[in-house]
Amino acid sequence: MKVLKIDHLGIAVKSIDEGKKFWTDVLGLELEGSETVEAQKVTTAFFPVGESEVELLESTSPDGPIAKYLEKKGEGIQHVAFRVENIEDALKELKEKGVKLIDEKPRIGAGGAKIAFLHPKATRGVLVELCER
Ligand code: ZN
Repeated sequence: MKVLKIDHLGIAVKSIDEGKKFWTDVLGLELEGSETVEAQKVTTAFFPVGESEVELLESTSPDGPIAKYLEKKGEGIQHVAFRVENIEDALKELKEKGVKLIDEKPRIGAGGAKIAFLHPKATRGVLVELCER
């Protein structure tokens, strides 16, 4: 598999309106776009930084994965996303290596990207997302 770059950092916030202030007002990043992905009960907002992006994640429902994350750990970095050349090949290779996966097949995330999550147990505590755009 070929990992091309860190695509984005996924940061869980209680509210994008509140949470974005540091990134826009202090760091001067610009909001590229916002999108709700109902299947994942999340609203995302992307802020490009050079070759990568900061992705803020706000839950749309109290039983969504981001709401559960906030309950357990509070606001902060929730996942790191690596862009790969071919996500199907990458997942196949990881499976062959015995890496525990959350998603065995890619699903469609924000911006129409193909995404899949690796299990944090396989990465010593880091929720890793693979994405292909
Ligand atoms: Zn992400």
